[in-house]
Order: sequence, then structure tokens, then C-alpha cells
Amino acid sequence: MELTEKEKFHYLNLEKGFAGEVKFDQLIENLQEERYILNDLLLEVNNSYFQIDSVIITQSVIYLLDIKNFQGDCYLESDKLYSVTTKREYKNPVDQLKRSSTLFRQLLQIHKLNYLVESSVIFINSEFTLYQAPMDQPLILPTQVDRFLVNLNQTPSKLKEGHKDLAQKLLSLHQPKNPFTTLPRYDYGQLQKGVYCKTCFSYFVSVKNKYFVCGKCGELEKINLGILRNVQEYKLLFPDQKITTQAIYDWCKVDLSKKTFYRILKKNYTSCGNTKDTYYI
Ligand SMILES: [Zn+2]
Repeated sequence: MELTEKEKFHYLNLEKGFAGEVKFDQLIENLQEERYILNDLLLEVNNSYFQIDSVIITQSVIYLLDIKNFQGDCYLESDKLYSVTTKREYKNPVDQLKRSSTLFRQLLQIHKLNYLVESSVIFINSEFTLYQAPMDQPLILPTQVDRFLVNLNQTPSKLKEGHKDLAQKLLSLHQPKNPFTTLPRYDYGQLQKGVYCKTCFSYFVSVKNKYFVCGKCGELEKINLGILRNVQEYKLLFPDQKITTQAIYDWCKVDLSKKTFYRILKKNYTSCGNTKDTYYI
């Protein structure tokens, strides 16, 4: 479906943020020494929710890191963050981080866990400049990211049973469903049916032998994999609906027989129910 301008903006921001987190994950992949790294924890204390992009548990310190993939020129003025070109105001990531670390410390206290906590906002994008950045704020600017990692890497760290308990405790407290996620409203009837290309997202896809062929970029995808991709999406979009041959046939709306769908579902899922209303899990 076509998103509104506001939804598109929000969506692009989420994508950018996600790309930044992935980039950071790649940078810390090869850390030496022993550490636990917990990504995207969503925690709750006294009904206040807070999310932390990356929690790194080391022998002596727990690092709370918020990863920002901002691009372009920004400046800070009386604790507010603005874009130089558009003058648009952004949420100050330091405020968010302060809130998260306060809540995180409370959480540790509640569970009688005694650890040193250090938190920082990491600006991961080398195309980002922050003017008037104060020196006393927990900011790691693009030119400092490497040094931050080197320092982290060179600090010896041996983990004990207590660290493992802490990591497991945090994982057990993770809230799998974010109550503040705002998804655009949608219903089945409103969404475009059909198989789209997994690479360029166009709907100019046709069936050739065992493949879906994209008429726009030429991408080939095996039919069974393309159908399974669509089953996953259908499940994600309509978690309460049953996966049936008819449902996936209608959803994919492509020049293939129902029998093909039946075969693919049967092979990859477990069938339930009577012959007449078989569904798959
Ligand atoms: Zn394509």
C-alpha cells in the first residue's frame, strides 16, 4: 500500500537506524577478550519502558550504547539538536540515553545487582558532523568510534558466573513486544496482492520454468522460495489468520496452480485439520 508522507519519513528513519546498528555490530564482531553483547533490549521498570541498542557486559563495566546513524551537519544549542540545513529539531539522543541509564540503574538495584554502568551515544556515520558538541557529554563522534573500540578491545576482560547470571537476567526481562511500536493501519483488502521482486520490490514478476523472473531488474528467485517468503510475510501481517492453500494462493495472485501452492506448503509446513479445511503451521 502507499504510505503517507509521515509514515514514509518514519519508515526511512527506522531503516537508517537499523543500518547503523548493523554497522556497529560488524565493528564489534571481532572484539577480543570475554564479553557479553546484548542487542536491542527492551526493558521495563515501574511501567516505564526503555530500549538500549547495545549492552556490552565486560568484567568491570556494563556499557549502554545508543547507536545513531545521523548524517549531515547538526548543531547543539541549549541541549537541543538541530539540522543545520533544514533547522529541523531532533530528539536529543543524550536525553534519551540519560533516561535509559537511570532506569537501567534502577533495574539493577531492584535485582540487587551491583555493577558499574557507563553509557554513550555513538554516532556511527562518518558523514555526520556535530557543531558545538560539548566535551562533557557522553558522545562518541564519528572520528572517535575507532578509538572507542580500540580502548574497549585493549581492556582485559574475564567473565565470571555472576556476569552470565546478569546477562541471563537481562534477557529474561526483555519485553518481546514493544507497546509503543506504531505501525500504520492496514487491512487485507487494502494491500496489493501479488509476488514482488525480492531485490527491487517491483511487481513486474512473471513465472518462467521454476523461477520468478523480475521484468525490471532481472532477478531470479526459485518459485518455492518466493512462495515461502510470501507465507512469512502473510504470517507477519496477519498473525491471527490461518495459513491455507487458498489464503496463500490469493495472497500471491500469480500464474501458478493451487496444486503448486498445496505442494509447497505441505512440504515445508505441518498440516493440521481435516482435508476440507487444512491449515499449516
Ligand atoms: Zn527486480
